[in-house]
Amino acid sequence: MELWYTEKQTDTYGITAKIKETYVHEKTDFQELAMIETEEFGTMLVLDGMVMTTDKDEFVYHEMVAHPVLYTHPNPKHVLVVGGGDGGVIREIMKHPKVEKAVLVDIDGKVIEYSKKYLPNIACELDNPRVEVIVNDGFMHIHDHKNTYDVIMVDSTEPVGPAANLFTRGFYQGIYEALKEDGIFVAQTDNPWFKADLIQSVNRDVKEVFPIVRVYWANVPTYPSGLWTFTMGSKKYDPLEVDETTIPDIDTKYYSPRLHKAAFALPKFVEDLVK
Ligand code: SAM
Repeated sequence: MELWYTEKQTDTYGITAKIKETYVHEKTDFQELAMIETEEFGTMLVLDGMVMTTDKDEFVYHEMVAHPVLYTHPNPKHVLVVGGGDGGVIREIMKHPKVEKAVLVDIDGKVIEYSKKYLPNIACELDNPRVEVIVNDGFMHIHDHKNTYDVIMVDSTEPVGPAANLFTRGFYQGIYEALKEDGIFVAQTDNPWFKADLIQSVNRDVKEVFPIVRVYWANVPTYPSGLWTFTMGSKKYDPLEVDETTIPDIDTKYYSPRLHKAAFALPKFVEDLVK
């Protein structure tokens, strides 16, 4: 018998992948978690029926959360990741020698535990001595840490369940206060095909809090529509003013010095959403 995983991405559209094996399927204290082995994408982490990451395409998202912002800030010593319990963003942050300490705050310890077991190539730096892993609500953490971080990365689930309050103006204000005076943050902000309203409301809210706001995109095949956006809010440094010739060619598969500014060139219909 063939088993297929299907994610209903809207009421009328979804993606589907043939399952080889199901390793975990359980309700944690916060969400429904599945870890499945697929023919096409390798191991896949699914939360509340939504693909979070897969062996095959994870590098795109994780590199594009971490590197644009870390190469925009000239001295990112102290970095916070909100969410990101699979460890992929932390793995990329660890490629930056300037980062002295990276703190990961995920609300769900089960995501961290199962990622270490079933996604070893993604979770491989979670035990690095430069990393501190905290199981807590990211919203609470940022409100308890004023003027602390150089860079904050929000690698959260979609704005339902435990991540609902991570897409609010109050959260962006909290991030502003948790950042040092020249700090920058970046958040994954979903896709413009089915979540145009969300991109617009996040953009409006972040612009009310940060003086410099930039949106960029990357192609992630297993996320709805494949066209994924990220929103950066900065107090001082502009990613578009970075001199790409100063960016080292580090070990990546998607991000490159050439792509640093190119990723900010938006398709016209997306540009119109965030004008
Ligand atoms: N890359 C994925 C995407 O865009 O679909 C998301 C990665 S997944 C690892 C996101 C993580 O955010 C989950 O592990 C989840 O437990 C965590 N999360 C959700 N709400 C949170 C909150 N309020 N505070 C901290 N972590 C949260």
